[in-house]
Amino acid sequence: MRFSGLRILKEGLTGNKGWSPHWRDPEPKAEYDAIVIGGGGHGLSTAYYLAKNHGMTNIAVLEKGYIGGGNVGRNTTIVRANYFLNGNSEFYSHSLKLWEGLEEDLNYNVMHSQRGLINLFHSDGQRDAFVRRGNAMVNQGDDAVLLDTAGVRKILPYLDFDNTRFPIYGGLLHPRGGTARHDAVAWGFARGADMRGVDIIQNCEVTGIDIENGAVTGVQTTRGAIKSKKIGLTVAGRSGQLAAMAGMRLPIESHVLQAFVTEGLKPVIDHVISFGMGHFYISQSDKGGLVFGGDLDFYASYASRGNLPMKEHVMEAGMTLMPMIGEAKVLRSWGGIMDMTPDGSPIIDKSPVEGLYLNCGWCYGGFKAVPGSGSVFSHLMATGRHHSEATGFRLDRFRTGVGIIDEEGTGSQHNLH
Ligand SMILES: Cc1cc2nc3c(=O)[nH]c(=O)nc-3n(C[C@H](O)[C@H](O)[C@H](O)COP(=O)(O)OP(=O)(O)OC[C@H]3O[C@@H](n4cnc5c(N)ncnc54)[C@H](O)[C@@H]3O)c2cc1C
Repeated sequence: MRFSGLRILKEGLTGNKGWSPHWRDPEPKAEYDAIVIGGGGHGLSTAYYLAKNHGMTNIAVLEKGYIGGGNVGRNTTIVRANYFLNGNSEFYSHSLKLWEGLEEDLNYNVMHSQRGLINLFHSDGQRDAFVRRGNAMVNQGDDAVLLDTAGVRKILPYLDFDNTRFPIYGGLLHPRGGTARHDAVAWGFARGADMRGVDIIQNCEVTGIDIENGAVTGVQTTRGAIKSKKIGLTVAGRSGQLAAMAGMRLPIESHVLQAFVTEGLKPVIDHVISFGMGHFYISQSDKGGLVFGGDLDFYASYASRGNLPMKEHVMEAGMTLMPMIGEAKVLRSWGGIMDMTPDGSPIIDKSPVEGLYLNCGWCYGGFKAVPGSGSVFSHLMATGRHHSEATGFRLDRFRTGVGIIDEEGTGSQHNLH
């Protein structure tokens, strides 16, 4: 089933009876050439690119809940390539290029909107840091425009420039940054993978990983044992638990991150804005809701909901930056479980167990990584070699200290990244 303008017109005129389900609901087979555990953005894109780029179609994605129920459907949908350090910058640049062709590739509307992202700065020191970051982005082949206060005021006139504790000195505009509809990204990759023969198996929790003589042989699940000699872990906040099933202790802490959405409003915020003096970022969804978030709740947890002190902290930051949002009613808030590494950058690597591959540590920036991660992780799983755009995400950097990618410069404290 392909989508096109003509098809939508025809279905509209004939009672929408010709649409078929986006993906099948197959029973698990006894054995697959590869298994991907976790049907979030990273698992689904990995399966899609394994099939599309590497011709591997006898594969399954095992999801304990439903597609889109994890972080891929819980984030604030920001897509960007504005990293400073080697290792991250080439990878996110690769991912953004995939985003730019994604809708055509998947034949699916993921509502990718390159509306521009502005990181605000509020001191001379911050300005210097953003100038350096902008130069790194331009050197990488991405786009960055430095704005002074007047430049920001022209684009975002509703910010508080005059009576605020943290005056706005300017901003770094990343014109190709923006947003996408998060659950549509999961659905689009699921549909694309299914069309190429991948079995997407929902309500199938992995409860054990079978290992013989140092190599994986399969998994135990709530729907029975399934054999495979290649297994990829893409379970985000549950990475520590799944790795423990294979006898590993990952350098990951799981933390809660909350997000918020207001009632639908007329268009007012046409960019993504990130406040530089507190953790606060905001955009407006196509339905009109203001979507915003802030910092992690300051404790490790597996609960997909957060607590009131962080809600207050985020609202305060929003009110400082743009007092007008105090008029909007918050409709919902929710939480997701973030897989935080000590340096804030991800892990895409082989594990010490043969045939078991790791894809984790996305912290709270893994949504924009979805296409890039799937493309490089499928490359690793299919060929056994690291993709050229993801050579730095090695697990052993946390053991040796060599190759740490610490964008924030805060050292090895998981919740500070
Ligand atoms: C509030 C919030 C805001 C965020 N904002 C942004 C943002 O603006 N931009 C950005 O780039 N990133 C953002 N992120 C981060 C981003 O959402 C995550 O890094 C990314 O979605 C994680 O990868 P995933 O999609 O594969 O995870 P998930 O969707 O969580 O997928 C993992 C899946 O594994 C499944 N699973 C777990 N255990 C098992 C098991 N035993 N067996 C089978 N399946 C299992 C889970 O059910 C889940 O569906 C945000 C996250 C949150 C929570």
